[in-house]
Amino acid sequence: MKKVAISACLLGEKCRYDATDNKNEILLEQLKDTQLIPFCPEDTAFGTPRSTMDLVETPQGQQAISNFNGEDLSTPIIQYATLFFNTHPDLDLLIGKDRSPSCGVCSARLYDEDKNLLSSKESGLMVKEAIKRNISCIDAEDFRGLE
Ligand code: SF4
Repeated sequence: MKKVAISACLLGEKCRYDATDNKNEILLEQLKDTQLIPFCPEDTAFGTPRSTMDLVETPQGQQAISNFNGEDLSTPIIQYATLFFNTHPDLDLLIGKDRSPSCGVCSARLYDEDKNLLSSKESGLMVKEAIKRNISCIDAEDFRGLE
């Protein structure tokens, strides 16, 4: 059975910043014969509900910056990702929630420090850690089933 890591909000967990979910029934039907391993770096690191964050290009590289107080929230997200991927070294695929600054796969928005949009095709911080480990990643909105 294939092992698929997936953003927990897509499974119906109410772990979004506003305590809602992104449950995707069509996606779940497509994945019914796989082992699903949910993840949510932001809920673990910051709790739910929480303030939003944006992916920002800074002199130190891309960071997740709080829209509440401008704090750099990257470290706990990367720590969560490191632990997650060390715990699950044999993933076949990661399905991320499109456009999330943590979980988006080539769909997250990247801003400069003045909040000008630089790109809408970035990957979130958790996904960047997956890519570093050569794990295949796809956005939920692009997933069309496993081969
Ligand atoms: S997109 Fe990722 S960080 Fe955001 S709620 Fe879903 S699983 Fe959590």
